[in-house]
Formats: sequence, structure tokens, C-alpha cells
Amino acid sequence: MRALNLISDLIFPRRCPVCDGVLSERDRKDLVCLECLPKIKYIKSPKCYKCGKQLGDDEAEYCADCRKKEHFFERGFALYDYPSVRHSMYRFKYSGRTEYAGFFGRDMAEHFGAEFKKIGIEAVIPVPMYAAKKRMRGYNQAEELAKVLGRELGIPVIKDLVKRTKKTLPMKTLSPSERAANLKNAFIIGQFELKLRKILVVDDIYTTGCTSDAVAKVLKDAGVNEVYFAALSVGEGL
Ligand SMILES: [Zn+2]
Ligand SMILES: [Zn+2]
Repeated sequence: MRALNLISDLIFPRRCPVCDGVLSERDRKDLVCLECLPKIKYIKSPKCYKCGKQLGDDEAEYCADCRKKEHFFERGFALYDYPSVRHSMYRFKYSGRTEYAGFFGRDMAEHFGAEFKKIGIEAVIPVPMYAAKKRMRGYNQAEELAKVLGRELGIPVIKDLVKRTKKTLPMKTLSPSERAANLKNAFIIGQFELKLRKILVVDDIYTTGCTSDAVAKVLKDAGVNEVYFAALSVGEGL
């Protein structure tokens, strides 16, 4: 097994999610370079009680977005401040760096795992990608992340519980009202015998919450009592 791992390390060297350099022997167990770790900025308190975004000086309890708009999910958890991980997120999403999920999923479990357990999350589900798009890209980064998070926490991951039924436009190109229209009827429930009460939806990025809301709505319509979501970062989107 060890020999196999060594060979696989030679062919697919593990890379640091921050600098994308091949990890040294020393850093391999941490899945990140020691020097790179301080470059990642975490979202700090005070955070929005609803979506988990860091609050500005003039905001209390809820961010301006959450005060304006009601969400279908109960509460969100977000880990990184987007600008500090922008390049990393891009490679994770578009350049095949699925290995970053190892670090990201573990980091998420370390930061939020205790809260997820306290809530009593029964299943982790990734925000689904449209099947044709996933075939083209070869993977869904949210699914890679969910797999690691579920494994770390010992919570089952159900990847086809919700399906994306249409090709949606990239959210960054759309106005807020177009975003909602873009996601209308975009998701359907893949299993109807749902007995789950509390579900965690996982994605790489949280922007306005439109996607999390759309997924939360189909889950709730199917009888799930509480839907939470966890995103790696909060930002304007890729
Ligand atoms: Zn590095
Ligand atoms: Zn908020």
C-alpha cells in the first residue's frame, strides 16, 4: 500500500491549495504548506446569524441582505473570506484540483463539525451540477467537498438527493431578479421516500443565497424539517 501511495504521489503529486506548489514531505499530512496557511483569512465574528457572512460595522445580528430577504434555509456557515482564497477557489472549480477538497473538507469539519453534530445533521448533500456540465468538467467540486466533510464527521453523503434539471447561466453575469428566474424550477428532488429531518447542503461559494435557497426549498417541499448550508467562502462568485 505504501509503495502504491508513493507511486501515486509521483504521478499525481499533492498540491497546496494556496500556492498550488507540490507539497513537501513535511507538509503532506497537513495538506497545505505551513508558510501558506496564514494567507488564508477566515470569516470572523460578528457573523450574520442567518447566512454566516461577516458583518460590517453598521450591521448587527443580520447582514443587510438577510434583513431584506427571507431565506428557505435555517442557517448558513461560511469558512473563508473570499479574496484570500480567490485563486484557490478558481483552480478547485475549473482546473481539476479536486485534491484541494482534502484540505477544505477537513478544515470545514474542524471549524464547524461540533456545531453540525449539535444541530443533529443527518445527511450532507452537495449542490448538484447539471449532468452534462459535470460530464464536461469531470467532477462537481461541491460533491468532492461534501465527500470529505461527510467522511470526517461520519455523516452520510447523498449526492443525488437533489438534481439540477436545467443548464443555468453563471450567476455572476446576472442581476438579483435574473438570478431568481435563472434558478426557477432548476432543482428537483431525486428521492421521494425522504425520512430525513435535518440536512446540510454544501457548496464552494455563497453569494446571494439564491442557490442555497432554491435547493433548500425543494428539500423542504419534500418534507425535510430543517436545511442548513455550508460554503467554503463568501464572495461575489466566480
Ligand atoms: Zn503553499
Ligand atoms: Zn446574512
